[in-house]
Amino acid sequence: MEARMKVIVDQDLCMGCGVCESIAPEIFELGDELHAKVILDPISEKYRLVVEEAIAECPELAIKIIED
Ligand code: SF4
Repeated sequence: MEARMKVIVDQDLCMGCGVCESIAPEIFELGDELHAKVILDPISEKYRLVVEEAIAECPELAIKIIED
């Protein structure tokens, strides 16, 4: 069976800059919150590259992929 991709945002590290949401609004949402939330679970493989871009651009290294 194909591995399922989950993405998490470490709420202790995230400082709410919004970079992840601007890169991948399908996946990350800030809204009025102080920390980004992941709004898709599981996440389709088609989003892997954009998730990796968000991981690379997050200034706090708060985003991680978990292969389920
Ligand atoms: Fe938080 Fe990183 Fe997203 Fe900024 S880019 S809101 S620090 S998870």
